[in-house]
Amino acid sequence: MSTFLACGPHFAEGAELTSLALFLLVKPLAYFGFVQAFRYWVSRAIPMSMAQAAGLAGVRAILGVVLVGGGALLLVAVGKRDEFLLISWVYMYLSRIAAWWWVGRRLARLTGRRLTGWVIAGTLLNAAFDVAVVLGLTAGWQYVLGMVTIIAIFIAVLHYFGSRERVKMRFYDHPVCRVCTYNLTGNLSGICPECGTPISLAPAIATSS
Ligand SMILES: [Zn+2]
Repeated sequence: MSTFLACGPHFAEGAELTSLALFLLVKPLAYFGFVQAFRYWVSRAIPMSMAQAAGLAGVRAILGVVLVGGGALLLVAVGKRDEFLLISWVYMYLSRIAAWWWVGRRLARLTGRRLTGWVIAGTLLNAAFDVAVVLGLTAGWQYVLGMVTIIAIFIAVLHYFGSRERVKMRFYDHPVCRVCTYNLTGNLSGICPECGTPISLAPAIATSS
């Protein structure tokens, strides 16, 4: 860990190029794919568009450079001692959790379990990139490729769960339960038969924000 942040002498060949490609190319793309996977989970009347997802990925990337990376580097520079390395790692992860939470809650308009899932999955995504960077610096680019493949599979799984019919259903024009998105067409009881939530009089889409 200390060789990673202190720029030690044990770098693998081509390590700088690999990390540069990771940060400038692969990570923004992964952020975009990640945000896109949550497009039907938003608490707004229409799903997130490609442009909105790209914007959110950009905001998250900027927060990452300024808040996460900048803050951690500052801590190491100010501290100049080994325990500050640990503190800077702790800081990096806390600021990442805060950054994902802020972007998810404020900008993507995610709530409840979806917001929690977003924060956990986003932080895991960062952890995977940390592993990729450390492997790239110490073991070689082949390991980075393996890690990037794992990240791609992770995002693909998120896409699969994020675009199931049950998730998309809220955006169709029939009435659906605002909690579980169960189709309430012809419902007379006033209670969702799937999860027991009382049905409000306003349309589900209008009450969900
Ligand atoms: Zn329900």
